[in-house]
Amino acid sequence: MTRLNQNELLEVILLSLDRSGTVVRILEHRKPFLLALGHGAEAPGIIEIFIWNVTHGGATRNPDEYRVQVTPTMPPAVSSHSRVVLGWSDDLQVFTAWDPFRHSQRSAASPSLQVSLDTMVLAADVGVSSEIRGSGDVVVALQPYFLAVYLESLAEMHSLRPSDVVSAMNLGSTDLPPIDERDVMVQQVRKRFRSADFGTRVRTAYRYGCAVCGLQLNLTEAAHIVPVWSGVNNDSVSNGMNLCRNHHAAYDSALFTVDDDYTIRVSSAARLLLPEKRRFGYEELSSFHGLPLENLPVLRSLRPDTTLLRRGDEIRKFVM
Ligand SMILES: [Zn+2]
Repeated sequence: MTRLNQNELLEVILLSLDRSGTVVRILEHRKPFLLALGHGAEAPGIIEIFIWNVTHGGATRNPDEYRVQVTPTMPPAVSSHSRVVLGWSDDLQVFTAWDPFRHSQRSAASPSLQVSLDTMVLAADVGVSSEIRGSGDVVVALQPYFLAVYLESLAEMHSLRPSDVVSAMNLGSTDLPPIDERDVMVQQVRKRFRSADFGTRVRTAYRYGCAVCGLQLNLTEAAHIVPVWSGVNNDSVSNGMNLCRNHHAAYDSALFTVDDDYTIRVSSAARLLLPEKRRFGYEELSSFHGLPLENLPVLRSLRPDTTLLRRGDEIRKFVM
């Protein structure tokens, strides 16, 4: 279970907000982080962020039970700031958010906040989810892409039932199903997540890193496995790979492919097809041959579909 340090946690928050186009100014680099959101004529909202790594509750706990350790205890909230109480699971790449109004003066006697694994996995899959704890607390889990929306609707977010969280995040249609139909709600979120553009969904699933080399730097692109130009329009994440620009171009040129076990195969035939003057860089590319993909979605259902991979090879006329 990966644990990030304070600077890395701040970086995750900043990247998440950047991705949704939110302008952020950092007022305090140390926890609790103080950020000013927004710009121009609109008064910037100042938010105070407490964030910890989400870890398993320990051997004596339910295997589904995850939590953050609230240390040191949070001081009383300052009225001019909106407080946010977050957890971050680096393995699943999701935030969890607890009701800041309920937990503003959490006593030292109960220093941890809980969330179930199911809730986090659901958010990793569909974008956002929530659960009601036995205490009545509503815990929200969300992908980085949705952090800005969460912060904007902070005041109401934790007073909502799980199904209403969906509409508050503007994820559902206007005719939301009855609020107790959780399955229907989940389908609605899925539908909405799928309607987010292909690039956003693929980049999110790969945590913005190239599947082959891991490069981030906002230099990655979502590549279709079965290409759109072939006449097939499959925008599911499993028909995609997030690739840096070089590897995207190399993949589309059938210079390499990915095996059913996600091993990289660099074509030696493709080298010979290139004019001799244009082979520079082949050695570097072939150094990936036989290696597993560097970066894959956490959820298996989002990883490249092997049938689509083979279909993509046929269409690009990949030759080993
Ligand atoms: Zn790459």
